[in-house]
Amino acid sequence: MKNYDVAVCGGGFAGISAALAAAREGKKVVLFEKEYMLGGLGTAGLITIYLPLCDGYGRQVSFGIAEELLKLSITYGAEDRYPANWLDGIGTRTENDTRYMVQYNAQLCAILLEKRLKENGVDIMYGSYAVDTDTENGRITTLYVQNKSGRIAYPIRTVVDATGDCDIAHFAGVPTETFKQGNKLAAWYYFTNDSGYHLQQLGVVDEPGQTGESLTKRRFSGLDGEEISEMVCLSHERTLKHWLEKRKTDPGAVISTLATIPQIRMTRRIVGEYEMADAEMHTYFEDSVGMVANWKKRGPVYEVPFRTLYNKKVKNLIVAGRCTSVDEDLWEAMRVIPCCAVTGQAAGTAAAMTDDFSALDISALQKKLVANGVVLHEKDIL
Ligand SMILES: Cc1cc2nc3c(=O)[nH]c(=O)nc-3n(C[C@H](O)[C@H](O)[C@H](O)COP(=O)(O)OP(=O)(O)OC[C@H]3O[C@@H](n4cnc5c(N)ncnc54)[C@H](O)[C@@H]3O)c2cc1C
Repeated sequence: MKNYDVAVCGGGFAGISAALAAAREGKKVVLFEKEYMLGGLGTAGLITIYLPLCDGYGRQVSFGIAEELLKLSITYGAEDRYPANWLDGIGTRTENDTRYMVQYNAQLCAILLEKRLKENGVDIMYGSYAVDTDTENGRITTLYVQNKSGRIAYPIRTVVDATGDCDIAHFAGVPTETFKQGNKLAAWYYFTNDSGYHLQQLGVVDEPGQTGESLTKRRFSGLDGEEISEMVCLSHERTLKHWLEKRKTDPGAVISTLATIPQIRMTRRIVGEYEMADAEMHTYFEDSVGMVANWKKRGPVYEVPFRTLYNKKVKNLIVAGRCTSVDEDLWEAMRVIPCCAVTGQAAGTAAAMTDDFSALDISALQKKLVANGVVLHEKDIL
C-alpha cells in the first residue's frame, strides 16, 4: 500500500482541518472517511450552524483554518445567520450584536471542502472505515482500513484520530473516557415549503434556556451498533411525527433532507496528558495551540493546551475534534465546529512535524501555527 507521512481518520471539520494543515507543511497526506462526502456531522449530519469564532463581546478568538472554513462554507452565500458586522464591517461588535457565526448549505459545503483538500494535494479515500491498528513499542505501526477493495493494511508514520468517537485511540489501547450522561435524541432535518428550504432543529441539548422539548427520555452512548441503529430509527419516527403535525398548518411543507450519519454529540474522548476543565476559562497555557469561545454564553475564552490532544502511551497518535481531553462540563462547549477546526489545525501541523508528539518542540509548533494565522493567547487579542 502507498506510504503516507500523515494518515487522518475521519473527514469531519476536525479531520479536514488536520489534513489541510499537514498538507500545507508539504507532507503526503491521506484522509480516510467512511462516508462518501466530507464534513461529518457538519454536512451529512445536517448540523449546518458554524458556531461563533468570537467571545460575544466583539473579540474574535478563533482564527486560522477555523475562520477559513467558515468563509469557505458560505462562498456562494449563507443559508442564514449572516454576520454582516464581522464580514462586511456593518454595525458594531458588542455584546448585543450578532456573533461571528453562520449557517451554510450542507451539500454545497461538502463539495467545497472536498475541492479545497484536493487543491492542497490530500488523497481522499471515501467509503474507507478505519477498523483496527497494530501497535509495537508504544507506536501504531499499521492501520487497517476496510473498503470496497477489502481490508487494507497501511504502514503508519503518524495518525490523526478525527473520527469524533476516538476510534483509533480506542483500537490502539490509549486510555479513553465515555460521556457519562448519555446523549439526548436529535432529529434535525430539512424541509421545503412555499417560502424556501429550512433547517428544523428537532432535539435540544441539556441547557437551561434552550427551547424545544426532549424527544424521548432515553439517553444514547453512540458506541453500540445496535443502540445507534435504534436511535436512528427513533429519530426518523420523530421526524415523521413532527412533519405530519407541521403539514396541518403548512400544507406545502415537504421533508427534503435526512441526516445520513447519526446525530450524536459526545461519545468517547481521549484521556490526554492534560484534561482541561470548564473552570479554566481565561487561563494562560504555555503550550496553547489556539483559542475557542463558548457558544452557550458570551464571555468565556479557552486557550487549548497541546497536551489535551495526545497521550504518550501511543507516541504517534494525536486526536482532534469532539474527542479531545476535556472534562464533562467543557465537552459540551469544545465539541462544536469551530473548536474542531482549531484542534484539527494544531493536530495536523504537529503530525507534519513529528512522529512522537510527547517529544515535539512546542515553540516550533506554535511558530508554525502563528505563521498560519492562529492566535495562541488571550493576552494577544484586542
Ligand atoms: C444534534 C446536534 C446538534 C449540534 N449543533 C451544533 C451547532 O449548532 N453548531 C456546531 O458548531 N456544532 C454543533 N454540533 C456539534 C458538531 O456538529 C460536531 O461536534 C462537530 O461537527 C464534530 O466534528 P468532528 O470533525 O470532530 O467529528 P464528526 O463531524 O463526527 O466527523 C467524524 C467523521 O469521521 C468519520 N468516521 C467515524 N469513524 C470513522 C472510522 N473509524 N473510519 C473512517 N471514518 C470514520 C465519520 O463518518 C465523520 O465523517 C451538534 C451536534 C449534534 C449531534
